[in-house]
Amino acid sequence: MQEASDKLRGERKTIGFVPTMGYIHEGHLSLIDISNQNADITVASLFVNPTQFGPGEDYKKYPRDIERDKRLLEKRGCSILFEPDADTMYSKYFRTEVYVRNLCRLLCGETRKMHFKGVTTVVSKLFNIVKPDIAVFGQKDAQQAIIIKRMVEDLNYDLKIILGAIVREKDGLAMSSRNIYLNKKERRDAVVIYRSLKEAEQMIENGERGVLKILRLMRKVISEKKSARLDYIKAVDTNGLKPVSKIRGEVLIAVACYFGKTRLIDNIIVNPLNI
Ligand code: AMP
Repeated sequence: MQEASDKLRGERKTIGFVPTMGYIHEGHLSLIDISNQNADITVASLFVNPTQFGPGEDYKKYPRDIERDKRLLEKRGCSILFEPDADTMYSKYFRTEVYVRNLCRLLCGETRKMHFKGVTTVVSKLFNIVKPDIAVFGQKDAQQAIIIKRMVEDLNYDLKIILGAIVREKDGLAMSSRNIYLNKKERRDAVVIYRSLKEAEQMIENGERGVLKILRLMRKVISEKKSARLDYIKAVDTNGLKPVSKIRGEVLIAVACYFGKTRLIDNIIVNPLNI
């Protein structure tokens, strides 16, 4: 991969990079489009990274369909698929980790303690392997995007991060490889996450600025579905991910919620200054 990237760079071609864990859906493909619009060649990686899964999480059963992924990515204009195996990425001597202090302990990091350290370490390796000029990440994983931007700035990675908007199913559920785990009822119920976010957005558009009130309504909307078990709902600032009590300036409203055994995340960014 490094040789291929060196060759492209030698030909003065810019490289766009879209890291994924595969089981490709329209959310991933929208990032391929953004990469193609911003770079000459698009590289995608497909790697289910073991170090970002905690004990008891779904590493072993994470959905995989490499042949389908290859077809979809190629059709959408991805030129190179980097698909390493875990033993190549992590030799038995592997010791180095990249860790973004504080940010990785908040929101999803409160319950998934090792998750973001796994993400930043693997993304750091992937950046060194693929040598991209730009890398495209989804707003769907808002905390991940914020942490990676922090890492890129702190460690002076010579590349630009571009974010892609959340792609949703017709009823509003954010697309995710994990949606396949949901049974019919859970799938129907899961739309309450989006509904709660839209209610919050509406309240803010109507002038409400108090976070307690907004989150209370969101909790109520979600709790109407028995299959929903909330992990967290938070309104935080988009730099430090610290909870805010009033909506002033840009605020990330993030939700993590279980339906059965499946943990789904979603979010919106609101900014009353833009209303
Ligand atoms: P994953 O394969 O789930 O690790 O996701 C790979 C990339 O796709 C990450 O940057 C995600 O944020 C992004 N992504 C996942 N789902 C969506 C979605 N529904 N809309 C936009 N981007 C997404």
